[in-house]
Amino acid sequence: MTKKQYFCNELNNVLSCFHDRIMSCCTGQIGPVYEEAYRGKRIDWKKFKQTKLDAFALLNEEDIEKSPCKGCFFLKEKTENDVISQQYTMLNVSHWTQCNCGCIYCARMFDSHGEITYKSGKSQYYDFVPLLKELYKQNLLNRKELVAVIQGGDISVLKEFEKMIKEFLKNGVKQIHILTNNIVYQPIIKKLMDLNKVLLFTSLDCGTPETYKKLKRVDKFNDSVKNLREYSKGRENPPIIVKYILVEHFNDNKEEIIKFFDLMSDIGIKMVEFTIDNKWALFTNLDEKPFPPHYGEMYTLFKEEAKKRGIKCSVYSKVEDIIQKYALK
Ligand code: SF4
Ligand code: SF4
Repeated sequence: MTKKQYFCNELNNVLSCFHDRIMSCCTGQIGPVYEEAYRGKRIDWKKFKQTKLDAFALLNEEDIEKSPCKGCFFLKEKTENDVISQQYTMLNVSHWTQCNCGCIYCARMFDSHGEITYKSGKSQYYDFVPLLKELYKQNLLNRKELVAVIQGGDISVLKEFEKMIKEFLKNGVKQIHILTNNIVYQPIIKKLMDLNKVLLFTSLDCGTPETYKKLKRVDKFNDSVKNLREYSKGRENPPIIVKYILVEHFNDNKEEIIKFFDLMSDIGIKMVEFTIDNKWALFTNLDEKPFPPHYGEMYTLFKEEAKKRGIKCSVYSKVEDIIQKYALK
């Protein structure tokens, strides 16, 4: 009898360059690691490519116990359409941790020690442009289909940000997703919007400077809003998703949500995302610790408000599941 085979699209298509390692998927938790503690040294590309093949070789019912992917919800049964590719179509760029604000919910807090950085500089770990050039040279990136996701840290304090974008444009890239606090205006982002090559993600999380300052530990609400207006100017559908991360005791109230939407309507934002902070999304066993019951009400209000104003609202499936199970049952 043939062994049951598994497949993972993330393993096949995604390459993630984190500050401490280069690995397969964006989960950052499990999954094969191509380069441990990478600091810009020369890469053995043969070994690098083989790591992916070795990981696929373990994706069958006999060997799955030995696989770093064991238990991952992305695994699915392999079909005849699932073919291992040499090239990646999604590249996560997240090789620095410096940021010019200090969100209280920041997942990078452990590495950045909550420091706020004002001056643009190099990543403390490695430069990305030389690695990117090498990835293209090794034919590991699908030039036509590539989506680059630039995460960070924040781009405004990463000296090579613009250089990176130019390298992507030079080699061909389908789209660039940029996650930024949007405190500093970037002319190159405007240029990418004109080229139809970018989707900008920013977390405003509120509709007032007071709440912003409490959440982000910097007084930059007006800068961020001004830049949103600047990027949106003259565009019917700005390629911008403004996130609202619900944080207990800070912005988890009706008034703040309404003010957020008043602002979005005023600016002309057409896409928002509702989510919850990592304390509840990742780090709490919700079967043991009670989930804030009013999160259900906030979620419902948020979605209704978006609909009423003709704004598209997205919710990450894991967050949707948590809300449905623990706050709306
Ligand atoms: S199965 Fe899971 S852990 Fe393994 S590569 Fe895919 S997403 Fe990553
Ligand atoms: S903007 Fe992002 S990287 Fe900066 S502190 Fe906030 S969550 Fe962290």
